[in-house]
Amino acid sequence: MTTNSLRVRYAPSPTGHLHIGGARTALFDYLLARASGGAFIIRFEDTDQTRHQESGIGNQLDGLKWLGLDWDESVDVGGPYGPYRQMERLHLYQQYVDQMLDQGSAYRCFCSELDLEQERSEQEAQGEMTGYSGKCRHLTKEQAAAFEAEGRKPSIRFLVPADRIIAFEDKVRGHVEFDSNGIGDFIMVRPDGIPTYNFAVIVDDHLMKINLVLRGEEHLSNTPRQIIMYEALRLPVPEFAHLALILNQDRKKMSKRDESILQFIQQYNELGYLPEAVVNFIALLGWSPQGEEEIFTLEELIEQFDLDRVSKSPAVFDMDKLNWMNNLYLKKTALERVVELSLPHLQKAGYISADPDASTMEWVTALVGINQERMRFAAEIVELSALFFKEELIVDEEARAILSEEHVPIVLRAFLEQVHQSDELTVQGMPELLKNVQKETGFKGKQLFMSIRAALTGQVHGPDLNVSLYLLGKEKIAARLEKLL
Ligand code: GLU
Repeated sequence: MTTNSLRVRYAPSPTGHLHIGGARTALFDYLLARASGGAFIIRFEDTDQTRHQESGIGNQLDGLKWLGLDWDESVDVGGPYGPYRQMERLHLYQQYVDQMLDQGSAYRCFCSELDLEQERSEQEAQGEMTGYSGKCRHLTKEQAAAFEAEGRKPSIRFLVPADRIIAFEDKVRGHVEFDSNGIGDFIMVRPDGIPTYNFAVIVDDHLMKINLVLRGEEHLSNTPRQIIMYEALRLPVPEFAHLALILNQDRKKMSKRDESILQFIQQYNELGYLPEAVVNFIALLGWSPQGEEEIFTLEELIEQFDLDRVSKSPAVFDMDKLNWMNNLYLKKTALERVVELSLPHLQKAGYISADPDASTMEWVTALVGINQERMRFAAEIVELSALFFKEELIVDEEARAILSEEHVPIVLRAFLEQVHQSDELTVQGMPELLKNVQKETGFKGKQLFMSIRAALTGQVHGPDLNVSLYLLGKEKIAARLEKLL
Protein backbone atom coordinates (compact mmCIF):
# COMPACT_ATOMS: atom_id res chain seq x y z
CA MET A 1 0.00 0.00 0.00
CA THR A 2 1.38 3.39 -0.89
CA THR A 3 1.66 6.07 1.77
CA ASN A 4 -0.96 8.26 0.18
CA SER A 5 -3.65 5.64 -0.19
CA LEU A 6 -6.88 6.31 1.65
CA ARG A 7 -6.99 5.59 5.38
CA VAL A 8 -10.38 6.05 7.00
CA ARG A 9 -11.59 5.17 10.45
CA TYR A 10 -14.80 4.58 12.32
CA ALA A 11 -14.22 5.76 15.87
CA PRO A 12 -17.12 4.82 18.12
CA SER A 13 -17.36 5.57 21.78
CA PRO A 14 -18.29 2.14 23.08
CA THR A 15 -21.38 3.12 25.01
CA GLY A 16 -23.70 0.37 23.80
CA HIS A 17 -25.01 -1.28 20.68
CA LEU A 18 -24.24 -0.23 17.12
CA HIS A 19 -26.58 2.61 16.21
CA ILE A 20 -27.89 3.13 12.72
CA GLY A 21 -25.95 6.41 12.48
CA GLY A 22 -22.69 4.73 13.45
CA ALA A 23 -23.40 1.88 11.07
CA ARG A 24 -23.82 4.38 8.24
CA THR A 25 -20.51 6.08 9.03
CA ALA A 26 -18.77 2.71 9.18
CA LEU A 27 -20.39 1.55 5.93
CA PHE A 28 -19.39 4.70 4.03
CA ASP A 29 -15.84 4.38 5.38
CA TYR A 30 -15.76 0.75 4.34
CA LEU A 31 -17.08 1.44 0.83
CA LEU A 32 -14.51 4.18 0.23
CA ALA A 33 -11.65 2.06 1.56
CA ARG A 34 -12.61 -1.01 -0.45
CA ALA A 35 -13.15 0.93 -3.65
CA SER A 36 -9.72 2.55 -3.45
CA GLY A 37 -7.60 -0.23 -2.02
CA GLY A 38 -7.20 1.86 1.13
CA ALA A 39 -7.55 0.83 4.75
CA PHE A 40 -10.57 0.80 7.04
CA ILE A 41 -9.73 1.17 10.70
CA ILE A 42 -11.91 0.87 13.78
CA ARG A 43 -10.70 2.75 16.80
CA PHE A 44 -12.48 2.84 20.14
CA GLU A 45 -12.76 6.17 21.87
CA ASP A 46 -13.23 5.13 25.45
CA THR A 47 -11.75 8.05 27.36
CA ASP A 48 -15.12 9.11 28.70
CA GLN A 49 -15.16 6.55 31.46
CA THR A 50 -18.54 7.67 32.77
CA ARG A 51 -20.22 6.57 29.54
CA HIS A 52 -17.96 3.66 28.74
CA GLN A 53 -19.33 0.12 28.71
CA GLU A 54 -16.90 -2.72 28.29
CA SER A 55 -19.45 -4.76 26.33
CA GLY A 56 -19.75 -1.83 23.93
CA ILE A 57 -16.63 -2.85 22.04
CA GLY A 58 -17.86 -6.36 21.29
CA ASN A 59 -21.34 -5.05 20.50
CA GLN A 60 -20.03 -2.60 17.96
CA LEU A 61 -17.85 -5.19 16.24
CA ASP A 62 -20.63 -7.79 16.27
CA GLY A 63 -23.01 -5.32 14.67
CA LEU A 64 -20.54 -4.51 11.91
CA LYS A 65 -19.78 -8.17 11.32
CA TRP A 66 -23.46 -8.96 11.07
CA LEU A 67 -23.75 -6.30 8.38
CA GLY A 68 -21.05 -8.15 6.47
CA LEU A 69 -18.29 -5.56 6.88
CA ASP A 70 -14.69 -6.32 7.70
CA TRP A 71 -11.80 -4.07 8.64
CA ASP A 72 -8.06 -3.92 8.32
CA GLU A 73 -7.03 -2.66 11.73
CA SER A 74 -8.70 -2.73 15.12
CA VAL A 75 -8.64 -4.20 18.62
CA ASP A 76 -9.38 -7.71 17.36
CA VAL A 77 -7.20 -7.93 14.26
CA GLY A 78 -4.40 -5.64 15.42
CA GLY A 79 -2.48 -3.49 12.95
CA PRO A 80 0.64 -1.39 12.64
CA TYR A 81 -0.69 1.68 14.49
CA GLY A 82 -2.23 0.13 17.59
CA PRO A 83 -3.36 -0.10 20.26
CA TYR A 84 -6.79 0.62 18.84
CA ARG A 85 -8.50 1.84 21.98
CA GLN A 86 -7.62 5.16 23.51
CA MET A 87 -7.33 4.06 27.12
CA GLU A 88 -4.44 1.87 26.01
CA ARG A 89 -2.83 4.78 24.20
CA LEU A 90 -2.49 7.17 27.12
CA HIS A 91 1.31 7.10 26.93
CA LEU A 92 1.18 8.45 23.39
CA TYR A 93 -0.44 11.78 24.12
CA GLN A 94 2.09 13.35 26.55
CA GLN A 95 4.66 14.27 23.92
CA TYR A 96 2.11 16.46 22.15
CA VAL A 97 1.00 18.07 25.41
CA ASP A 98 4.60 18.92 26.20
CA GLN A 99 5.16 20.38 22.77
CA MET A 100 2.10 22.60 23.08
CA LEU A 101 2.97 23.71 26.61
CA ASP A 102 6.53 24.52 25.53
CA GLN A 103 5.52 26.59 22.59
CA GLY A 104 2.76 28.35 24.49
CA SER A 105 -0.19 26.98 22.55
CA ALA A 106 -1.55 25.29 25.66
CA TYR A 107 -1.46 26.10 29.36
CA ARG A 108 -2.24 24.64 32.73
CA CYS A 109 -5.55 25.70 34.19
CA PHE A 110 -6.16 25.29 37.90
CA CYS A 111 -9.77 26.42 37.97
CA SER A 112 -11.97 24.04 39.86
CA GLU A 113 -15.52 23.12 38.84
CA LEU A 114 -16.68 25.61 41.45
CA ASP A 115 -14.49 28.42 40.04
CA LEU A 116 -15.87 27.76 36.59
CA GLU A 117 -19.43 27.72 37.83
CA GLN A 118 -18.92 31.03 39.59
CA GLU A 119 -17.42 32.54 36.48
CA ARG A 120 -20.37 31.34 34.48
CA SER A 121 -22.98 32.82 36.79
CA GLU A 122 -21.15 36.14 36.88
CA GLN A 123 -21.10 36.21 33.09
CA GLU A 124 -24.80 35.40 33.07
CA ALA A 125 -25.57 38.13 35.60
CA GLN A 126 -23.70 40.64 33.42
CA GLY A 127 -25.55 39.46 30.35
CA GLU A 128 -22.26 38.37 28.76
CA MET A 129 -21.58 35.38 26.58
CA THR A 130 -20.66 32.44 28.78
CA GLY A 131 -17.44 30.53 28.27
CA TYR A 132 -14.08 30.15 29.86
CA SER A 133 -12.49 33.57 30.29
CA GLY A 134 -8.93 32.34 29.90
CA LYS A 135 -7.96 33.58 33.32
CA CYS A 136 -5.25 30.93 33.84
CA ARG A 137 -3.54 31.93 30.58
CA HIS A 138 -1.28 34.33 32.36
CA LEU A 139 -0.48 32.57 35.61
CA THR A 140 3.08 33.14 36.75
CA LYS A 141 5.33 30.23 37.66
CA GLU A 142 4.86 31.17 41.33
CA GLN A 143 1.07 31.22 41.12
CA ALA A 144 1.08 27.83 39.43
CA ALA A 145 3.44 26.44 42.05
CA ALA A 146 1.21 27.77 44.80
CA PHE A 147 -1.82 26.02 43.35
CA GLU A 148 0.15 22.80 43.01
CA ALA A 149 1.25 23.12 46.61
CA GLU A 150 -2.44 23.34 47.58
CA GLY A 151 -2.81 19.98 45.95
CA ARG A 152 -4.76 21.26 42.94
CA LYS A 153 -4.40 19.22 39.79
CA PRO A 154 -4.41 21.25 36.60
CA SER A 155 -6.21 20.52 33.39
CA ILE A 156 -4.47 21.43 30.15
CA ARG A 157 -6.27 23.95 28.00
CA PHE A 158 -5.63 24.87 24.42
CA LEU A 159 -5.06 28.56 23.89
CA VAL A 160 -7.38 29.46 21.05
CA PRO A 161 -5.88 32.23 18.91
CA ALA A 162 -8.09 35.32 18.57
CA ASP A 163 -9.49 36.72 15.32
CA ARG A 164 -8.86 33.70 13.17
CA ILE A 165 -11.19 32.38 10.52
CA ILE A 166 -10.82 28.61 10.54
CA ALA A 167 -11.94 27.28 7.19
CA PHE A 168 -11.99 23.92 5.48
CA GLU A 169 -13.47 22.25 2.43
CA ASP A 170 -15.77 19.54 3.66
CA LYS A 171 -16.19 16.69 1.16
CA VAL A 172 -19.94 16.69 1.81
CA ARG A 173 -20.80 20.18 2.96
CA GLY A 174 -18.40 22.22 0.84
CA HIS A 175 -16.78 25.33 2.28
CA VAL A 176 -17.20 25.62 6.04
CA GLU A 177 -15.76 28.29 8.28
CA PHE A 178 -15.77 29.24 11.92
CA ASP A 179 -14.64 32.37 13.77
CA SER A 180 -12.10 31.48 16.43
CA ASN A 181 -13.53 34.20 18.67
CA GLY A 182 -16.56 31.98 19.20
CA ILE A 183 -14.40 29.21 20.64
CA GLY A 184 -13.23 29.41 24.25
CA ASP A 185 -9.98 27.85 25.40
CA PHE A 186 -10.98 24.22 25.68
CA ILE A 187 -9.68 21.41 27.83
CA MET A 188 -7.31 18.96 26.11
CA VAL A 189 -6.38 16.93 29.16
CA ARG A 190 -8.49 16.57 32.29
CA PRO A 191 -6.98 16.88 35.77
CA ASP A 192 -6.85 13.07 35.99
CA GLY A 193 -4.48 13.05 33.01
CA ILE A 194 -6.99 11.59 30.55
CA PRO A 195 -7.26 13.42 27.25
CA THR A 196 -10.60 14.74 26.06
CA TYR A 197 -12.15 13.63 22.80
CA ASN A 198 -10.98 16.62 20.73
CA PHE A 199 -7.34 16.23 21.67
CA ALA A 200 -7.12 12.45 21.62
CA VAL A 201 -8.79 12.33 18.24
CA ILE A 202 -6.19 14.51 16.51
CA VAL A 203 -3.25 12.66 18.02
CA ASP A 204 -4.73 9.31 17.05
CA ASP A 205 -5.84 10.36 13.59
CA HIS A 206 -2.33 11.69 13.03
CA LEU A 207 -0.50 8.64 14.39
CA MET A 208 -2.82 6.28 12.53
CA LYS A 209 -2.20 8.25 9.32
CA ILE A 210 -5.89 8.89 8.78
CA ASN A 211 -6.30 11.13 5.77
CA LEU A 212 -10.08 11.37 5.56
CA VAL A 213 -12.23 11.84 8.65
CA LEU A 214 -15.81 10.84 7.91
CA ARG A 215 -18.31 11.28 10.72
CA GLY A 216 -21.69 12.63 11.72
CA GLU A 217 -22.59 16.27 11.48
CA GLU A 218 -22.84 16.52 15.27
CA HIS A 219 -19.04 16.73 15.21
CA LEU A 220 -18.90 19.64 12.77
CA SER A 221 -18.35 22.21 15.53
CA ASN A 222 -15.47 20.13 16.90
CA THR A 223 -13.64 20.34 13.61
CA PRO A 224 -12.28 23.91 13.97
CA ARG A 225 -10.94 22.97 17.41
CA GLN A 226 -9.19 20.01 15.90
CA ILE A 227 -7.83 21.98 12.97
CA ILE A 228 -6.22 24.62 15.19
CA MET A 229 -4.54 21.92 17.24
CA TYR A 230 -3.15 20.26 14.11
CA GLU A 231 -1.88 23.64 13.04
CA ALA A 232 -0.30 24.36 16.42
CA LEU A 233 1.53 21.03 16.21
CA ARG A 234 2.40 21.67 12.55
CA LEU A 235 0.81 18.41 11.55
CA PRO A 236 -0.97 17.83 8.26
CA VAL A 237 -4.72 18.33 8.54
CA PRO A 238 -6.81 15.42 7.20
CA GLU A 239 -9.77 15.96 4.92
CA PHE A 240 -13.21 15.97 6.49
CA ALA A 241 -16.63 14.73 5.43
CA HIS A 242 -19.57 15.34 7.76
CA LEU A 243 -22.71 13.34 7.15
CA ALA A 244 -26.06 15.03 7.68
CA LEU A 245 -28.42 13.85 10.38
CA ILE A 246 -30.79 10.94 10.02
CA LEU A 247 -34.32 12.06 10.87
CA ASN A 248 -37.16 9.83 12.03
CA GLN A 249 -40.35 9.31 10.04
CA ASP A 250 -41.82 12.56 11.38
CA ARG A 251 -38.74 14.36 10.07
CA LYS A 252 -37.61 15.08 13.59
CA LYS A 253 -34.22 14.48 15.08
CA MET A 254 -33.98 10.91 16.32
CA SER A 255 -33.81 10.48 20.02
CA LYS A 256 -32.58 7.29 21.58
CA ARG A 257 -36.06 6.76 23.03
CA ASP A 258 -37.78 7.04 19.68
CA GLU A 259 -39.58 3.77 19.07
CA SER A 260 -41.08 4.55 15.68
CA ILE A 261 -37.94 3.17 14.07
CA LEU A 262 -35.47 0.50 15.00
CA GLN A 263 -32.27 2.34 15.77
CA PHE A 264 -29.87 -0.41 16.69
CA ILE A 265 -28.43 -2.97 14.29
CA GLN A 266 -28.89 -5.65 16.93
CA GLN A 267 -32.67 -5.20 16.68
CA TYR A 268 -32.62 -6.05 12.98
CA ASN A 269 -30.65 -9.15 13.70
CA GLU A 270 -33.11 -10.18 16.41
CA LEU A 271 -36.16 -9.64 14.22
CA GLY A 272 -34.77 -11.63 11.33
CA TYR A 273 -33.95 -8.96 8.80
CA LEU A 274 -31.39 -9.80 6.14
CA PRO A 275 -28.10 -7.98 6.67
CA GLU A 276 -27.69 -7.40 2.95
CA ALA A 277 -31.06 -5.61 2.84
CA VAL A 278 -30.18 -3.51 5.89
CA VAL A 279 -26.84 -2.55 4.33
CA ASN A 280 -28.58 -1.62 1.09
CA PHE A 281 -31.06 0.51 3.01
CA ILE A 282 -28.40 2.25 5.12
CA ALA A 283 -26.34 3.07 2.03
CA LEU A 284 -29.29 5.09 0.76
CA LEU A 285 -29.48 7.20 3.93
CA GLY A 286 -27.89 10.25 2.43
CA TRP A 287 -26.33 8.76 -0.68
CA SER A 288 -28.22 8.70 -3.96
CA PRO A 289 -27.18 6.41 -6.76
CA GLN A 290 -26.75 7.73 -10.26
CA GLY A 291 -29.63 5.90 -11.95
CA GLU A 292 -33.06 4.68 -10.90
CA GLU A 293 -31.81 1.40 -9.47
CA GLU A 294 -31.96 1.21 -5.68
CA ILE A 295 -31.10 -2.41 -5.04
CA PHE A 296 -27.40 -3.08 -4.60
CA THR A 297 -25.23 -5.81 -3.22
CA LEU A 298 -22.30 -4.79 -1.07
CA GLU A 299 -20.01 -5.40 -4.06
CA GLU A 300 -22.12 -3.14 -6.22
CA LEU A 301 -22.13 -0.50 -3.52
CA ILE A 302 -18.34 -0.57 -3.41
CA GLU A 303 -18.35 0.06 -7.13
CA GLN A 304 -21.00 2.77 -7.19
CA PHE A 305 -20.67 4.66 -3.93
CA ASP A 306 -19.38 8.15 -4.30
CA LEU A 307 -19.03 10.93 -1.69
CA ASP A 308 -19.98 13.46 -4.35
CA ARG A 309 -23.48 12.04 -4.32
CA VAL A 310 -23.90 12.26 -0.56
CA SER A 311 -26.42 14.91 0.35
CA LYS A 312 -25.85 17.64 2.87
CA SER A 313 -29.51 17.71 3.80
CA PRO A 314 -30.79 15.25 6.39
CA ALA A 315 -31.87 11.77 5.40
CA VAL A 316 -35.27 10.51 6.49
CA PHE A 317 -35.42 7.04 7.94
CA ASP A 318 -38.41 5.39 6.30
CA MET A 319 -39.25 2.16 8.12
CA ASP A 320 -41.82 1.21 5.45
CA LYS A 321 -39.18 1.45 2.78
CA LEU A 322 -36.84 -0.73 4.80
CA ASN A 323 -39.59 -3.32 5.24
CA TRP A 324 -40.39 -3.18 1.55
CA MET A 325 -36.74 -3.68 0.72
CA ASN A 326 -36.25 -6.50 3.17
CA ASN A 327 -39.30 -8.27 1.75
CA LEU A 328 -37.83 -7.89 -1.72
CA TYR A 329 -34.61 -9.52 -0.54
CA LEU A 330 -36.45 -12.25 1.38
CA LYS A 331 -38.39 -13.22 -1.73
CA LYS A 332 -35.13 -13.75 -3.60
CA THR A 333 -33.48 -15.67 -0.77
CA ALA A 334 -33.14 -19.45 -0.74
CA LEU A 335 -36.00 -21.01 1.22
CA GLU A 336 -33.62 -22.90 3.56
CA ARG A 337 -32.13 -19.62 4.70
CA VAL A 338 -35.53 -18.07 5.32
CA VAL A 339 -36.45 -21.19 7.29
CA GLU A 340 -33.28 -20.83 9.32
CA LEU A 341 -34.16 -17.23 10.11
CA SER A 342 -37.77 -18.04 10.94
CA LEU A 343 -37.34 -21.13 13.09
CA PRO A 344 -36.06 -19.36 16.23
CA HIS A 345 -39.13 -17.13 16.19
CA LEU A 346 -41.51 -20.08 15.97
CA GLN A 347 -39.59 -21.69 18.80
CA LYS A 348 -39.70 -18.57 20.90
CA ALA A 349 -43.45 -18.42 20.40
CA GLY A 350 -43.63 -21.98 21.70
CA TYR A 351 -44.99 -23.34 18.40
CA ILE A 352 -42.03 -25.54 17.57
CA SER A 353 -39.86 -27.53 19.96
CA ALA A 354 -36.22 -26.73 20.59
CA ASP A 355 -35.12 -29.86 18.76
CA PRO A 356 -37.48 -30.43 15.83
CA ASP A 357 -37.40 -33.76 13.98
CA ALA A 358 -37.25 -34.18 10.22
CA SER A 359 -41.00 -34.26 9.67
CA THR A 360 -41.45 -31.13 11.77
CA MET A 361 -38.76 -29.43 9.72
CA GLU A 362 -40.56 -30.45 6.56
CA TRP A 363 -43.69 -28.92 7.99
CA VAL A 364 -41.87 -25.72 8.98
CA THR A 365 -40.35 -25.48 5.51
CA ALA A 366 -43.80 -25.68 3.94
CA LEU A 367 -45.08 -23.08 6.39
CA VAL A 368 -42.29 -20.65 5.64
CA GLY A 369 -42.59 -21.44 1.94
CA ILE A 370 -46.19 -20.22 1.72
CA ASN A 371 -45.34 -17.08 3.66
CA GLN A 372 -42.04 -16.17 2.05
CA GLU A 373 -43.67 -13.76 -0.41
CA ARG A 374 -45.50 -11.86 2.29
CA MET A 375 -42.97 -11.72 5.07
CA ARG A 376 -41.30 -8.40 5.70
CA PHE A 377 -38.92 -9.90 8.25
CA ALA A 378 -38.58 -13.37 9.71
CA ALA A 379 -40.20 -12.66 13.09
CA GLU A 380 -43.44 -11.98 11.22
CA ILE A 381 -43.80 -15.69 10.58
CA VAL A 382 -45.38 -16.03 14.02
CA GLU A 383 -48.17 -13.62 13.23
CA LEU A 384 -48.58 -14.82 9.65
CA SER A 385 -48.96 -18.41 10.70
CA ALA A 386 -51.12 -17.96 13.79
CA LEU A 387 -53.91 -19.66 11.88
CA PHE A 388 -52.09 -22.98 12.09
CA PHE A 389 -51.38 -22.76 15.79
CA LYS A 390 -54.22 -20.98 17.53
CA GLU A 391 -57.13 -23.06 18.79
CA GLU A 392 -59.68 -20.34 18.17
CA LEU A 393 -60.41 -19.58 14.52
CA ILE A 394 -61.26 -16.00 13.66
CA VAL A 395 -63.69 -15.86 10.78
CA ASP A 396 -63.83 -12.64 8.81
CA GLU A 397 -66.92 -11.11 7.24
CA GLU A 398 -66.35 -12.39 3.70
CA ALA A 399 -65.73 -15.90 4.95
CA ARG A 400 -68.86 -15.74 7.09
CA ALA A 401 -70.92 -14.80 4.03
CA ILE A 402 -69.56 -17.79 2.15
CA LEU A 403 -70.24 -20.11 5.04
CA SER A 404 -73.91 -19.16 5.11
CA GLU A 405 -74.45 -20.51 1.60
CA GLU A 406 -76.55 -23.63 1.25
CA HIS A 407 -74.05 -25.93 -0.43
CA VAL A 408 -71.40 -25.43 2.24
CA PRO A 409 -72.43 -28.11 4.78
CA ILE A 410 -72.65 -30.67 2.00
CA VAL A 411 -69.16 -29.91 0.78
CA LEU A 412 -67.69 -29.80 4.26
CA ARG A 413 -69.27 -33.08 5.33
CA ALA A 414 -67.92 -34.85 2.28
CA PHE A 415 -64.51 -33.32 2.81
CA LEU A 416 -64.47 -34.35 6.47
CA GLU A 417 -65.30 -37.87 5.41
CA GLN A 418 -62.37 -37.88 2.98
CA VAL A 419 -60.04 -36.60 5.67
CA HIS A 420 -61.13 -39.31 8.10
CA GLN A 421 -60.53 -41.94 5.46
CA SER A 422 -56.97 -40.92 4.62
CA ASP A 423 -54.05 -42.07 6.76
CA GLU A 424 -52.03 -38.96 6.29
CA LEU A 425 -52.55 -35.60 4.62
CA THR A 426 -49.91 -34.65 2.13
CA VAL A 427 -49.63 -31.72 -0.25
CA GLN A 428 -49.35 -34.10 -3.20
CA GLY A 429 -52.37 -36.14 -2.15
CA MET A 430 -54.65 -33.16 -1.68
CA PRO A 431 -55.84 -32.65 -5.30
CA GLU A 432 -57.14 -36.19 -5.45
CA LEU A 433 -58.89 -35.88 -2.15
CA LEU A 434 -60.60 -32.71 -3.32
CA LYS A 435 -61.51 -34.39 -6.59
CA ASN A 436 -63.29 -37.09 -4.61
CA VAL A 437 -65.30 -34.44 -2.79
CA GLN A 438 -66.23 -32.96 -6.13
CA LYS A 439 -67.35 -36.30 -7.51
CA GLU A 440 -69.43 -37.02 -4.49
CA THR A 441 -71.14 -33.66 -4.12
CA GLY A 442 -71.21 -32.35 -7.65
CA PHE A 443 -69.78 -29.04 -6.46
CA LYS A 444 -66.58 -27.79 -8.01
CA GLY A 445 -64.35 -24.76 -8.49
CA LYS A 446 -65.08 -21.79 -6.28
CA GLN A 447 -68.01 -23.45 -4.54
CA LEU A 448 -65.81 -26.29 -3.49
CA PHE A 449 -62.54 -24.56 -2.67
CA MET A 450 -63.97 -21.40 -1.13
CA SER A 451 -66.16 -23.35 1.26
CA ILE A 452 -63.24 -25.37 2.53
CA ARG A 453 -60.90 -22.42 2.73
CA ALA A 454 -63.43 -20.21 4.53
CA ALA A 455 -64.33 -22.95 6.98
CA LEU A 456 -60.76 -23.85 7.86
CA THR A 457 -58.89 -20.57 7.64
CA GLY A 458 -61.65 -18.08 8.38
CA GLN A 459 -60.67 -16.18 5.26
CA VAL A 460 -61.46 -16.27 1.56
CA HIS A 461 -57.95 -15.32 0.46
CA GLY A 462 -54.74 -16.90 1.48
CA PRO A 463 -51.84 -19.04 0.48
CA ASP A 464 -52.02 -22.22 -1.56
CA LEU A 465 -54.96 -24.33 -0.37
CA ASN A 466 -53.24 -27.72 -0.73
CA VAL A 467 -50.32 -26.58 1.40
CA SER A 468 -52.59 -24.86 3.91
CA LEU A 469 -54.58 -28.08 4.39
CA TYR A 470 -51.42 -30.12 4.83
CA LEU A 471 -50.17 -27.60 7.36
CA LEU A 472 -53.41 -27.71 9.32
CA GLY A 473 -53.23 -31.48 9.52
CA LYS A 474 -55.92 -34.06 10.14
CA GLU A 475 -56.63 -33.24 13.76
CA LYS A 476 -57.11 -29.52 13.36
CA ILE A 477 -59.19 -29.97 10.23
CA ALA A 478 -61.43 -32.52 11.91
CA ALA A 479 -61.82 -30.44 15.05
CA ARG A 480 -62.65 -27.27 13.13
CA LEU A 481 -65.12 -28.93 10.79
CA GLU A 482 -66.87 -30.92 13.50
CA LYS A 483 -67.30 -27.79 15.54
CA LEU A 484 -68.67 -25.92 12.56
CA LEU A 485 -71.04 -28.64 11.41
N1 GLU B 1 -16.07 8.99 19.36
C1 GLU B 1 -16.79 9.88 18.52
C2 GLU B 1 -18.24 9.44 18.51
O1 GLU B 1 -18.54 8.30 18.84
C3 GLU B 1 -16.22 9.84 17.13
C4 GLU B 1 -16.04 11.16 16.54
C5 GLU B 1 -15.13 11.14 15.34
O2 GLU B 1 -15.35 10.32 14.46
O3 GLU B 1 -14.23 11.94 15.30
O4 GLU B 1 -19.10 10.22 18.19
